[in-house]
Amino acid sequence: MKARHDERMLGEQNIARIPDGTKLLDRKDVHRGHLLLVNADHPVRTTEEPPLTLVAETGIRVLDEVIALETACMQQLAALLEAAEAGDDIVVVSGYRSMEEQTNIYTRSLEDNGPAYTAKYVALPGRSEHQTGLAVDVGERSEGELDFIAPSFPDRGKCLAFKLLAASYGFIQRYKEGKEGLTGIACEPWHFRYVGAPHAATMERLGFCLEEYIDYVKSYSYEGERLTHEGEGWRAETYYVPAEPQGRTAVWIPACDDYSLSGNNADGFIMTAYHGAGYVF
Ligand SMILES: [Zn+2]
Repeated sequence: MKARHDERMLGEQNIARIPDGTKLLDRKDVHRGHLLLVNADHPVRTTEEPPLTLVAETGIRVLDEVIALETACMQQLAALLEAAEAGDDIVVVSGYRSMEEQTNIYTRSLEDNGPAYTAKYVALPGRSEHQTGLAVDVGERSEGELDFIAPSFPDRGKCLAFKLLAASYGFIQRYKEGKEGLTGIACEPWHFRYVGAPHAATMERLGFCLEEYIDYVKSYSYEGERLTHEGEGWRAETYYVPAEPQGRTAVWIPACDDYSLSGNNADGFIMTAYHGAGYVF
């Protein structure tokens, strides 16, 4: 499957090669895009609802008909499930949550499961990446009832196939064992986060969780060294641009075939330029 990626935060679709130039970004754009870091220290700042698609509309199995995901994340999830031939075996258990929904889930978990369990697996309201629409919880389809907070997603069969292909479709297992001190959340084999394929592949290669990757990207700049990602028939380069403390920030865009821009939800922007038509998203 060959398709153009659809993860640019700003701008129109480009067919011709993009010449170099600048893009002016607003302060609020720091809180938009596919690479937002959301955790206890970095709450969701935007009140804007992301562009959402109902998961059930695409034919994917869902625990609840109302589950929605950010549109690019949804498209990539569909492609990933198809590639893993897992459409019949994997159920989407949770996707986008509004502030109100996250509050209800948190309160209900406190009542049902107690504070220790809730602190381990349920993010505080305003601090859940489910509120971005870029996080999806998946569970293995079974005869029994699926656990809404901690669905079973074992390292075998179709679930393993899904996990092994996830990075190629832009997803990372967000909360891994050994990273609890950085993420603040216990290992969750069922929770995947969409970040875009070059970033997911590079995080996997370096063994970084999102907290580490966002920090790592800051050592790359337009003028200095750029982080390069490579795949078959394509290459991408990434660099960080700190947001101006006041007013708009000019982001330099090199001549490229396509690009994506995202805020990091903290203090700046991550620019990724793509070269070569062979990339798969
Ligand atoms: Zn989750």
